[in-house]
This record gives sequence, C-alpha cells and structure tokens, in this order.
Amino acid sequence: MYFSLTIHKHGIIRIYLLRYTHDKNEVFFMLVIKNGTLVTMNPERQILQADLLIEDNCITGIGEFAAGAGDTAINAQGKLVIPGLIQTHVHLCQTLFRGMADNLELLDWLRKRIWPLEGSHDEESIYYSSLSGCAELLRGGTTAIIDMASVHHTESVFQAVELAGIRYLGGKCLMNKGEAVPASLMDTTENAVQESLDLWQRWDGQANGRIHYAFCPRFAVSCSDELLRSLAALSRQHNIPVHTHASENRSETALIEKEHGLSNINYLESLGLCNDRLILAHCIYLNNEEMKILAESKTNIVHCPGSNLKLGSGIARIPELQAMGANISLGADGAPCNNNLSMFMEMRLASLIQKPLHGPRSMPAPLVFAMATLGGAKALGLEKEVGSLEIGKKADIAVVSLDGWHHQPVQAADVYSHLVYQAQASDVYATIVDGRLLMLNGQLLCLDENDVRTRAGESVSRIIQYAGLI
Ligand SMILES: [Zn+2]
Repeated sequence: MYFSLTIHKHGIIRIYLLRYTHDKNEVFFMLVIKNGTLVTMNPERQILQADLLIEDNCITGIGEFAAGAGDTAINAQGKLVIPGLIQTHVHLCQTLFRGMADNLELLDWLRKRIWPLEGSHDEESIYYSSLSGCAELLRGGTTAIIDMASVHHTESVFQAVELAGIRYLGGKCLMNKGEAVPASLMDTTENAVQESLDLWQRWDGQANGRIHYAFCPRFAVSCSDELLRSLAALSRQHNIPVHTHASENRSETALIEKEHGLSNINYLESLGLCNDRLILAHCIYLNNEEMKILAESKTNIVHCPGSNLKLGSGIARIPELQAMGANISLGADGAPCNNNLSMFMEMRLASLIQKPLHGPRSMPAPLVFAMATLGGAKALGLEKEVGSLEIGKKADIAVVSLDGWHHQPVQAADVYSHLVYQAQASDVYATIVDGRLLMLNGQLLCLDENDVRTRAGESVSRIIQYAGLI
C-alpha cells in the first residue's frame, strides 16, 4: 500500500465547497474525495484505498485526510475514483444533428446531411450544440476533448467550452475544395489560415490554460495542397497541433490516391504533417507502409469504434498499430455518427470489436482504459498534466458508482473489467475538471440544463429549416 500523507499547509484538513456560482473567477481551493478506490494509472498502476486531496486545480495529496467540523467532502465509499476520461475526437458543433443522418456511408453522410446542416448553423445554434455536447460528456465522466468545430462561428464553440468547464483542444474546421461542399462552408486558403491564426491568438491558453488551439483541416479530400502545406509549416513554427480525419473510408482513400498518386498517409507525410503534433482520427484503411510511417513519426491515432461501425466504415487495425508503438486514444466522434458521446461505450466497443478477429485475449480492459486516459493525455500533449491520479497533476477526475445491477457482484480485484465492460455514462457520480466540481450526484453544476435544452431545441428547428431538410 502506498501512502503519501500530505498535511495541508494550514494544519487541518478542511473541506470543500460543493456550492457553485457562475462567476468563473471563483476558485475552489480545497476538495477532498473520501474513502474511494483510486484507479491511479500511475506507472505502477496502483489501485489504492485512499482519500484524494485537491487544492486549487491540482492533486496535492493521496492518503488520509480528515474533514473538519462543518466541512464537506465527496463521499466516494464503494466508488471508483478515476482519471477523467479523454475523448480525442468529437464534433461539438454536430450534437444537434443526432439522429438526422442514420444509415449512410461517410461521403453521403457528409454531402447529404452533415455539410448542409453545418452550413446552416448560426452563432446561437452552434453555441447550444456545443453546450449540449459538453453536458453529455461531463455527465459521462469525460473531462477533456479534442474537437473539430465547423467552418464558421468557431468563437461560439470556444465561449461554450469556456462556460462548461471542460478541458479543450480544437479549432475551426478548414475546407477549401471538394465535390458537393455547400458554398456556405467553402473557404479560401487565405481566410482559412488567417481566421485560424486569429482564433489561436485569442483562445490558446485561455481559461486558466484549460483551452488550447489546434488547426483542424477536415480531411485531405476537402483541403488543397497549398492549405495543408501552410498548416504543416505554421504547426512547426508555432508548435500548434493539427487534428484531422484520415483513411476512414475506401471511397475517401481512393479519391486521394486518384488525385495525388499517393496513399493517404504517404500524401500527408509528403506535406510534412506526420509528427507528434498530428492527431489523426480513424486510420482504418492503412497499408503496412502507412502503419509504419504513423508509428515511427509518433503520429497520434484516434480510434472511434462506435462511429466506424455505425457508418459501416470498417475496423481499424488497432492491436497491430499498438504493437508497433503507436499512441492510440479513443473518441466517440460526432453525435450523428455514433449516436452517443459515451466514453464507456467506446471503451467497450474498442475491446469487443477486435476479439472475433484476434481472439478473446486481445485488447484487454487495462490496455483499453489506458488508451482512454494516458493515451488521450499524450494526444493532447498534456501527459505531464492529466491522464492519471498523481500528486502534482491537474485535478481532472471522475467518480464512478458501482451500485447499478450491471456491476453486481462487485469484484474489487478487477476494476478495469467494471470500467471497460460494465460501466455506463449514467454511473458517473461526480466530475471534476481543473479542480472545479462540475457534476455531482446527477446535478450538472456548471450549466442551467433546462435552459440549454430549450435553446438547443429552438436551434434545431431553425437549422433544419435553413438546411432544407424538412
Ligand atoms: Zn469526425
């Protein structure tokens, strides 16, 4: 048993405030999560029965802490305390399109439904789409995301994530060519780059360092050579991550090969994009050479099993990529291609879909849970700050209840089995990001959920009308 008993500098271990106000400048100095089972994901992968102390936005103690009279602590007795889950590919701007694009393969899904819908967004609809997505993510224990916004109104996405309190890396979606792209989403190279740089300057490092900017070209099919080359150069110059989709669908890879005479990953590599700043969603249709390029260049790969199954895209060769040393993390993708934003569903699928191909021992639960935490932290470039419960790391934490019948009987010896195969988003009891308690016992403390629901509903009616889909 490992104990690092940290006594708070004021002598007594006091408590913690469960109240919340909308004043974003308010700082919660201390929080104690009592009596939980800590799934630390530290290098020794220790599972500890201990209290966890949070001061300001960091984990400052793991051990035993007594709460003083009148103080409050989160009671995690019988619950799992885990590093916040990290989804490294989502589209907050698409949350309002859930259920509007079922039974389509990727290119039809984009051309017939998603692009017209994205092109119909206004500032308010994209804001409430983003808040709706954050509400679902935070309730399900996801504390950090990598997000691709749409072409316009990206400012509203940043305002939403600033309010919601989630940790965020993302940016404006870039599109400057391609078949069936609506005029409302078609950008010029110059505007795409300039607007991205303006947003980077405005938002990178905001909200106490909780928000960061990434260049987000949609995919090679909808971005010119010139645009992708500029992004590669600017990424290198300013150390800005690049997030894009690649090799999700056979028609997509065929289009790229026909146009450039290179397979998709060879093409991205020829532009100087393959490196540890690149976060690449999907990566299903890769030949052996492409897999080698991704592993050797330390490109981050995001596995999105739910989306890949629903669009009929395919099954990524994750066990092989993992064995080659590639960093793999997980994401739900957008609401209209999943149709859930639950990391627990993605973990379960990531494990199960490989078993018929590689046998029941493939993709074991501890490995999948590491992808959902440490892998995500690495993709974010924040492996020293989040992804595990260790003293000095940022306090991004979820507390998971094991009370549901789907957890019975509770096998304390195999917490990973509970987390990957059994847990559901609704089991999350508390969510903390950057030291702030954002959800407790079914109450989202950072948002007025009724208001968000009402305004999101009004926005949906407006955008489907603009998109001409009714
Ligand atoms: Zn996507």
